[in-house]
Amino acid sequence: MSNILQTAFSPAAFREQGHHLIDFLADQLANAQAVTIGHTILWQAPDEQLAFWQADFARPLLTNPQELFEAVFSRSVSLHSRGYLGHQAQPPANAAVLASTLTSFLNNGMAVYEMGMTGNALERIVTGYIARKMGFDDDAGGLITSGGTLGNLTALLAARAAKSAVWQEGNRVDNPFAVMVSEEAHYCIDRATRIMGLGAAGIIKVPVNAHFQLRTDLLEAYYTRAVEQGKTILGIIGCACSTATGSYDDLEAIGSFARNHQLWFHVDAAHGGAAIFSPIHQSLLKGIDQADSVVLDFHKMMLTPSVSTAVLFRRGSDANRTFSQQAQYLWDRYDPEEWYNSGKRTFECTKPMSVVAIYTLMRQYGDELFKQNVEVLYELAQEFANLISAHESFELAYQPQSNIVCFRYCFGDELDTANQQLLRQLTEEGRFYIVSTRLHGKFYLRTSIMNPLTTLQELVLLLETLEAFSKRDSIKLGV
Ligand SMILES: *Cc1c(COP(=O)(O)O)cnc(C)c1O
Repeated sequence: MSNILQTAFSPAAFREQGHHLIDFLADQLANAQAVTIGHTILWQAPDEQLAFWQADFARPLLTNPQELFEAVFSRSVSLHSRGYLGHQAQPPANAAVLASTLTSFLNNGMAVYEMGMTGNALERIVTGYIARKMGFDDDAGGLITSGGTLGNLTALLAARAAKSAVWQEGNRVDNPFAVMVSEEAHYCIDRATRIMGLGAAGIIKVPVNAHFQLRTDLLEAYYTRAVEQGKTILGIIGCACSTATGSYDDLEAIGSFARNHQLWFHVDAAHGGAAIFSPIHQSLLKGIDQADSVVLDFHKMMLTPSVSTAVLFRRGSDANRTFSQQAQYLWDRYDPEEWYNSGKRTFECTKPMSVVAIYTLMRQYGDELFKQNVEVLYELAQEFANLISAHESFELAYQPQSNIVCFRYCFGDELDTANQQLLRQLTEEGRFYIVSTRLHGKFYLRTSIMNPLTTLQELVLLLETLEAFSKRDSIKLGV
């Protein structure tokens, strides 16, 4: 029997298979750009998909993984397709994909300096640069973690560490803690507060206005009521922007409310923080410089592979308190201020070098790539919204502030059912991938324009396709 370990590390096979894979991906990239719209999703029901892979798993061992790679590719959603308008993920820029391959190969964790020398230095530079973009001064600091969900939890833990002794003493039952947030906040905020032991009563959801922005006129009343109920408010969270509708909260008003009550002000800018790179759109983030902490996902609108998230602190020292703890087998000395042992400030112990992907894009393109990306996507969303508004069969849910547009087909009595059916047909047909949300309890089609190579032409085709489906159905149903 041949030495499998030798085979697994064969330079010649790696070279050959690596070239093969890159050639295949470059061909897919070219295909996606050559046609107006190709295949975006090859829909299969979960049980059928599982059966396919169970059969695959039972087959003889592979000598070359290329066939497997191609099967994975064709059975996955193509974010590079111009018909991709689904969840908030972008096709990663080529250089970022290559950077991820490099860091997979290196596999240096970042918790401890020696193991992640480059990663720790790049983390310091990238977070420092973005913190200054947000308007913070030299006291600012930050870290990179794996996803906005973990980022928001980290920031809320920092808030609690700044305002209480829970980390040492545990939660108290008298004066329970709570945080205030828009009812449109991402579900991970609710999850984070429950993980922190605050329970259902620990998240105070403030209603939104017609544009799905937090109603700042209600803040005082909600605050007073919570305090009367015996709660201690730790902080308030602004959405920039909200996930379902892409609406930006009034960060200036929330910031001044936070300051008046000495609350921690956190901004969840996981999706919309990238607008800071656009002179046209950065006013949406006005007031973010007042935040105590900010979360920004590089994998949402900054063209990197998932997951890579910055957590920024106006006072860098706030980051060091969150997880203060001794781990002597990792760090002999405990000096919480040291920037170069990233594991002291983050959840992860083995932390991937995801920072290399964003750093590569910054080194290659400066701010320009992020600026153009945001501007193209936001502009396209405006044009799409105009198209929907002008169309007699479609209703626009709100005027979009970002690249997230919600709308629905308006014909007949059963609008929820009709739109659910349209979405199912569209997904099964496979040229487009869009998603859905509920607004005021009603079912809406939801598009996030995430591929910067998508054009108005595809969006026109999307509406035409939906309309054609609905006509076909009415004929079938005899309406
Ligand atoms: C996507 C998103 C999150 C969650 O981030 P992940 O990186 O998916 O964990 C949190 N908040 C907002 C506003 C988001 O859009």
